[in-house]
Amino acid sequence: MNKVFIETYGCQMNVYDSELVLSILKKEGYELCGSIESADLILVNTCSIRENAEQRVWGRLDHFLQEKRKRQDLIVGVLGCMAERVKEKLLEHPVVNIVAGPDTYRTLPKMINDIRENAKQMNIQLSRHETYADITPVRTDKNGVSAFISIMRGCNNMCTYCIVPYVRGSERSRDPHSIVREAKELFEAGYREVNLLGQNVDSYLWVDPENPTNTTNFAQLIELVALISPKLRVRFSTSHPKDMGNGVLYSMAMYPNICSHIHLPVQSGSDRMLEKMNRKYDRAKYMERIHKIREIIPDAAITTDIIAGYCSETIEDHKATLSLMEEVKYDYAFMFQYSMRPNTYAARHFTDDVPLEEKTRRLNEIIELQNRHSLESNQKDVGKVFEVLVEGTSKKNKEELFGRTPGNKVCVFPACGHKAGDYVHVKVTGCTSATLLSEIVEQ
Ligand code: SF4
Repeated sequence: MNKVFIETYGCQMNVYDSELVLSILKKEGYELCGSIESADLILVNTCSIRENAEQRVWGRLDHFLQEKRKRQDLIVGVLGCMAERVKEKLLEHPVVNIVAGPDTYRTLPKMINDIRENAKQMNIQLSRHETYADITPVRTDKNGVSAFISIMRGCNNMCTYCIVPYVRGSERSRDPHSIVREAKELFEAGYREVNLLGQNVDSYLWVDPENPTNTTNFAQLIELVALISPKLRVRFSTSHPKDMGNGVLYSMAMYPNICSHIHLPVQSGSDRMLEKMNRKYDRAKYMERIHKIREIIPDAAITTDIIAGYCSETIEDHKATLSLMEEVKYDYAFMFQYSMRPNTYAARHFTDDVPLEEKTRRLNEIIELQNRHSLESNQKDVGKVFEVLVEGTSKKNKEELFGRTPGNKVCVFPACGHKAGDYVHVKVTGCTSATLLSEIVEQ
């Protein structure tokens, strides 16, 4: 059997895509291996969202070159967003044989075969239809409890800072029957949580090609998945404030196994910045969505993404972000300082004019505030009881397990004979800003 080593960078969608690629290659006689030294084929599934993600990949390619010097027949391929963005320049690297964009993975076996004829292969064609709906990914996660399912690909939103629409193409929704089938198979294999993935899940819309009046939207899709079993937890990301309707919130409120957590990226609290980012909502509309979430699902955890120092951001814009954070009090946030990506709308039309030290200062202020809010949010949970799905053994203490609350907060607690995949009820006894300390209680 040929051996493939896959290294994955970036988001959960890339993790899922690497599992798809493995499934395609398994049919061609490849099996996964754990080191580059034992691999016949090395694939790097890449991310272009920030410059340092790409720099790491260039560094890894240089590292693979040392291995290739020992074994000339070693094949190296670059997959994913960077393949789509950097294109031929990647092929110029002496170690690279294959450059394959995210919609071309079905052609990988042919590209590998064709290397005998021509040492370099590239396919970066984007598709309007490819969803890989018929391919069951080979799961490579370690815990066997929680898995990702891609429900759509691409994005039509064109946020001005974002590279995704250029490297992953336009939005396509996947056939809901294939999504439900995949979730059922995971449940039957022992998985107890599925995380439905899309760049903008709220715009998921399946139109049956045989009967265009037969459609499925995202609120209906999460119900279909939730109905597989009350013992299967359903999570999803990412929601978009301009598209998140009340239907999704009512579905979440109706099914206890749809986790009460919404990741609702705001990016900035300033209307001027939101317009410049082309987010298509303003602060008032965003806050209206937050109030609606709290009205329909009072215990929902709300998390977000925030960018510090976007093009032309003033101190007033930055203060607006801080004040919005104070207003919402997010449970958690992913916070970044802006890094301009080539080929985006911002790169073509705006100036990246906030000095680096000032971006870092603003980001630190945002992080400091969020850490305070995360701690306050966790402190409010002390004394409460949550149902937790056990994911595995705590890294710090082998006698303890860890799992997540429906709101996606990590809990650690003494094992008491339980194992990964069990549901337990825990009472929170203490916390840090990142973790709930707890103990199992009888329910
Ligand atoms: S919604 Fe905006 S930020 Fe998200 S992937 Fe699409 S373009 Fe990028």
